[in-house]
Amino acid sequence: NVEDRIQKISSVIRVIPDFPKPGIMFQDITTLLLDTKAFKDCIDLFVERYKDKNISVVAGVEARGFIFGPPIALAIGAKFVPLRKPGKLPGEVIREEYSLEYGEDIMEMHVGAVNAGERAIIVDDLIATGGTLRAALNLLEHVGVEVVECTCLIELPELKGRDRLGDKPLFVLVSAS
Ligand code: AMP
Repeated sequence: NVEDRIQKISSVIRVIPDFPKPGIMFQDITTLLLDTKAFKDCIDLFVERYKDKNISVVAGVEARGFIFGPPIALAIGAKFVPLRKPGKLPGEVIREEYSLEYGEDIMEMHVGAVNAGERAIIVDDLIATGGTLRAALNLLEHVGVEVVECTCLIELPELKGRDRLGDKPLFVLVSAS
């Protein structure tokens, strides 16, 4: 059943303390990718949720949204749109500046990748403070895309990142502390 599948997925995500700096409990999804059954289950759970929902865009956040987004997009018959760090996309871009715990960052998307009125989901591996998903949401909404839901494997609920998304739904498989 679903609980068992999620439990298995959760158990193969490795937690590495103090990476990349002291105090951070890094949720390492590369160990999930090594488990072919758990990785497939993870993608299948997202696909079961989003198929038949008339979604034409899966927007993935660099870098780990590029791992989970494309298999979901292929399976539900949607296009995959990368949301990238600044200076990586070669064509004309729109950009969104956002604040991190320390400093600022920028997210970019190709102009013309999506059309106003399309229905999208945004995929990343993890939501912490919610700043990254908020920026992704702003980018897509700026060009008139309807974001149906944000979706992640892992949520760190103590950081209340969900609140940054306002009333936009957030779906996660695993809650971590
Ligand atoms: P935030 O914008 O604070 O929600 O941070 C989310 C982004 O930072 C995601 O792209 C994550 O991959 C990364 N991230 C933040 N905290 C962690 C963590 N504890 N373990 C792994 N990745 C993290």
